Amino acid sequence: MPEEKKVVRKKIAAAADLNNFMRDYYLELDAAAQKGAPKIAWCTSVGPAEILRAFGFQVYFPETHSAMLGATRMATEFIPEANAIGYSPDICSYLTADIGAFLKGVTPLEKAFNIKSVPKPDVLVFNTNQCRDVQDWFNWYGEKFDAPVLGVHTYRGVSEVTEKHIYSIAKQLEALVPPLEKITGRKFKLDDLKRAVALSRECSELWKKILDTASAKPAPLTFFDGTTLMGPAVVGRGTQKAVDVYKILLAELEDRIKKGEGAIENEKFRIYWDGMPVWGRLSTHSQLFAALNANVLASTYCNSWIFSALDPQDPFNSMARAYTELFIVRADEAKETYIKNMLAFFKVDGIIYHDAKTCPNNSNCRYGMPQRLEKQTGIPSLTINGDLNDLRMISDEQTKTNVEAFIEQLQERRHA
Ligand code: SF4
Repeated sequence: MPEEKKVVRKKIAAAADLNNFMRDYYLELDAAAQKGAPKIAWCTSVGPAEILRAFGFQVYFPETHSAMLGATRMATEFIPEANAIGYSPDICSYLTADIGAFLKGVTPLEKAFNIKSVPKPDVLVFNTNQCRDVQDWFNWYGEKFDAPVLGVHTYRGVSEVTEKHIYSIAKQLEALVPPLEKITGRKFKLDDLKRAVALSRECSELWKKILDTASAKPAPLTFFDGTTLMGPAVVGRGTQKAVDVYKILLAELEDRIKKGEGAIENEKFRIYWDGMPVWGRLSTHSQLFAALNANVLASTYCNSWIFSALDPQDPFNSMARAYTELFIVRADEAKETYIKNMLAFFKVDGIIYHDAKTCPNNSNCRYGMPQRLEKQTGIPSLTINGDLNDLRMISDEQTKTNVEAFIEQLQERRHA
């Protein structure tokens, strides 16, 4: 087993700008909640944010709040509160941690930004493209706040995205307009939606370029960096501020590539991560891999906020396409093709699958995919058991031992 060594990971200077972006985002939301204007919409992380921006809503994403609960290691404590009111410990631990924290009147926003509670919604809008849990989650809050809940019910397990899929989802997106007009008292303007879609597309393209920098050898960023840098891609899409802050980040990463600077000191192995991060172990996992000279540099997860199909000239149809072509919506065959392209593009030596106990939707290792992909590509993989938020599902010792053995295996393969 390798000896413990001091790990040097290069800090990203633009992370300070991204932190400021997130602080301002939450402070603006809180100010709107205090004043009652502009109105506040809750949206799922891959929900139709552009339509909400076009109506001038401040948009709040509960998944990001729950990821904060996870990253601050507060989540596990609150999950039993939601279990006690009927939500199983086996369902999404974003949902259970978030509802549990709400029931206890606690939010990580207080310590971070002196914000006492999550913003009261005027409307909640979900898209089931990622899972059904978001619908239950939003309905619970809708009842709590006596606020209307609107939803897009989408397809799942899609092999090929067809015109029929697009037509059906686009119609559902259009159907959001009349109730939103009623809630805001504001007439829908197509130009406002086109503007939001254009900004969203620009944000998405910048985010893709940022993630794609990791194809350089050595890679200038890690997956663990990506999980904290992705805030603007999730909560800021459709805004100019997200575009501006990503330009700063991209310039820094491109500069690193020019100088040949890697995110870890001595990148010997390039690893792909499939599945959710373990929010409460970002730093531990980052150190674990870096100490083994392995850079986890690309992931399905961070790429989930790339919406290349968005087209401001055809906003409803292109949103329908962008939100249906997503990895999480697709059948295994399409997912495998996607991952194979990623492995080649990022020049990957090995894959980590995170089997997250409470999120089957983001755990792709349960039906033979690792074995099929290894057979086709020759790239070995390791499955680690864990969870996004529920730290009771994690064995740190087991993870460490398995990861060390996996990297040794990669080393042996290379020598062979
Ligand atoms: S996709 Fe998974 S983590 Fe995300 S809301 Fe659904 S069940 Fe929770």
